[in-house]
Amino acid sequence: TRTHGEAEFPHAEKKTMADQLRKYESLLTLTPQRMRMIVHAIEETLDAGLQKDGMVVVIPTFVFGWPTGEEKGEYLALDLGGTNLRVCLVTLMGHGKFEVTQTKYRLTEDQKQEDGQKLLDFCAECLDSFIRDSLGRTEEDGILSLGFTFSYPCSQLRIDHGGTLHWISIPLIRWTKGFGAPNIEGHDVAAMFAASLKRLNVPAELTALINDTTGTLIASNYVDPHTKIAVIFGTGCNAAYMENAGSIPKMASVGLPEDQGMAINCEWGAFDSFDHQHLPRTKYDIQIDEASNKPGEQSFEKMIAGLYLGEIFRLIMTDMIDSGDLFLGQNTYKLEKAYAFDTAFLSLMESDPTDELLTIVGVFTHFFGIETTLEERQFFKKLAVLIGTRAARLSACGIAAIVSKKGYLEKGCAVGADGSLYNKYPHFADRVHTALVDIFGEKGRNIVTHHAEDGSGVGSAIIAAMTKARKEKGYY
Ligand code: BGC
Ligand code: MG
Repeated sequence: TRTHGEAEFPHAEKKTMADQLRKYESLLTLTPQRMRMIVHAIEETLDAGLQKDGMVVVIPTFVFGWPTGEEKGEYLALDLGGTNLRVCLVTLMGHGKFEVTQTKYRLTEDQKQEDGQKLLDFCAECLDSFIRDSLGRTEEDGILSLGFTFSYPCSQLRIDHGGTLHWISIPLIRWTKGFGAPNIEGHDVAAMFAASLKRLNVPAELTALINDTTGTLIASNYVDPHTKIAVIFGTGCNAAYMENAGSIPKMASVGLPEDQGMAINCEWGAFDSFDHQHLPRTKYDIQIDEASNKPGEQSFEKMIAGLYLGEIFRLIMTDMIDSGDLFLGQNTYKLEKAYAFDTAFLSLMESDPTDELLTIVGVFTHFFGIETTLEERQFFKKLAVLIGTRAARLSACGIAAIVSKKGYLEKGCAVGADGSLYNKYPHFADRVHTALVDIFGEKGRNIVTHHAEDGSGVGSAIIAAMTKARKEKGYY
């Protein structure tokens, strides 16, 4: 607990709020030129990732090509994201139509850190009670196919037995988004989860384990075949697109036809990790990284994703508190706690419609017991704009890298986007679009993001349907 009074800073020259703002503007603003350099570096990283596994593991997903739109049937979908666990029953009706029934569970911090198998057992239990209690189904009604959206980087390894493919092992490469459950990194998550289903007698069969971006790509394309790229701007950040097998050197040994489509999970959140050569990280970004459970990793994601934006804001505030430029004489202990300032507060502050910025008054008094002046509130609102805009512009760099790699600029393409940041953060989409024009000029307008279909629910059901159909034909 600290309280700052004037006396503690007798010689510190108090900067005006305008000085402060100029300082943060120059720290957090990305010029078009800088963005173009980042786009180029991301594109190179994606190329390198398709060659072999580097620091950024670009992942071929074994999701083969676009859906036909005619996939049909009832499927279960389980969605383990960064914040919630969701269980759905998806009915695919063909013609790009579907229905969803679902239940959501909030994950506790403890669950994110406890044993990996225990976490998966919990997922299986929730699924079981959904099937039995909500749907009123039992074994007697048949075993439903399940698509499990597990939104963390998993590689997909083919295991052949005497020339035929029997199983794809899906080991978790590393946790992201603050998860740290032991005994699962490096292990085959699909096999572990299948074991949970079996042990708990859940009337469901794991058919596909997918990434949320892949699900979003397939779900959005199912309803709008114009969609060629999918992005998630939520607790974490990542993208997927469709590549030709002939352009995936690390898949060469699989012997697929050159023009066979395969969805690629970019895992771009890991861009510029460890080396930190490309991104304009500030001392706040570095602080977040060093205090995280995965220092050095997910550099790009840590500057963009919903998990971190509020924390960037908070670290800037605590810096100003320490230098005696903010909240003199007030007790600021509630602000000193890591991750105490949720990204949702930034959304609220940016959308405060009142002249007096009364929403911001509320955020500070209600949650932190702190009085603010109008001048401070105006500063906070602008600071939120700077942080939110930087995130959107960096996101646009990722999209631009895929567009440029795939040559989608001339003809244009739709980008399905999902996640709390994209859906709830004010102006996020507009800022991405403006940035695309800054990067590409007027042609940037050909690239349009839109709210995606539910990739982790519907997408995972469609992929389960596609996978089931392939398996029935005798191959993965
Ligand atoms: C994970 C990705 C995921 C993204 C969005 C990242 O932290 O590494 O696999 O797609 O979050 O959920
Ligand atoms: Mg999600």
